[in-house]
Amino acid sequence: MIFFFGTRASKIKERQLRNISCPYCNTANSFTVSTYSRYFHFFWIPIVPLFKSSIAECGHCKKSYAVANFSPEMKRSFEQENQRDPAKRPLWQGLGCMALLALFAVVFSISLYGTFFGPKDANKSSKAQDPRRMALQEDIRNIGPVFSEEKAPLTYALKECINYELVSGIDPTKIEYFTQIKEDRFLILLKVRDMKKVEVSSRKILIDIIEDCLYAMEGLNGVNDFYIGIEGKWNTVLVKTPLEEDLEGRFADKYKLLPFYGEAPVRNPREVDSSSARITSDSLELVK
Ligand SMILES: [Zn+2]
Repeated sequence: MIFFFGTRASKIKERQLRNISCPYCNTANSFTVSTYSRYFHFFWIPIVPLFKSSIAECGHCKKSYAVANFSPEMKRSFEQENQRDPAKRPLWQGLGCMALLALFAVVFSISLYGTFFGPKDANKSSKAQDPRRMALQEDIRNIGPVFSEEKAPLTYALKECINYELVSGIDPTKIEYFTQIKEDRFLILLKVRDMKKVEVSSRKILIDIIEDCLYAMEGLNGVNDFYIGIEGKWNTVLVKTPLEEDLEGRFADKYKLLPFYGEAPVRNPREVDSSSARITSDSLELVK
């Protein structure tokens, strides 16, 4: 496709030079100065004005002079004319530019309007309204240090075991915990704040350590399934559940843990509002 763009000039002013005689034919008051404005166009639509140029022509001998070739008297007279009746570049030469600005303003206003007044739930997929996701995110937010054996005996025991088994490279004080039991399912969430010190290929060992500890721990009678998620500093890096695992060690899909919270909800997403989208928990929180 050929694009037609470039510059064009249009005459914007025509003025007489007063009290000047032509240096060539000596005719008095014979000069007419035409001023042109050059503009950049795209498909002949003026986009931006560029520069002005003027040319003087003697009406008698038809000799023409560019501004650079004006005599001192002609220059003086031309400057006086410029002050009296300046040649302004017309607004239409910036038409394309103004049209683009206007278009931008319209698009911007529409997007602002959409942000503030648009339907709030239009972008929410049914996935985002799965209350199990919110429960998981809440639990991940609740990962924290374990201080007290009395308040959280299972978590404390797990922490003690993990600290004992831990391979070099991970600082035990930088590991935080959250655990929860639901029926026969046990959720174990760890956050390892200096995960970057562990090579990606070795991170899977953390899951092995946790599993070893869980199998050795007392007080887990009646628990059949373990749901283990390990957070790095920024994201989930390891996930292991009875059905699925994500042990590559870099970016794990934390939503593989959702079956811990129960079956996926089957209901019309329209009926779920934010207040009812919390799990009514039948769980025994270990921290209590
Ligand atoms: Zn002349």
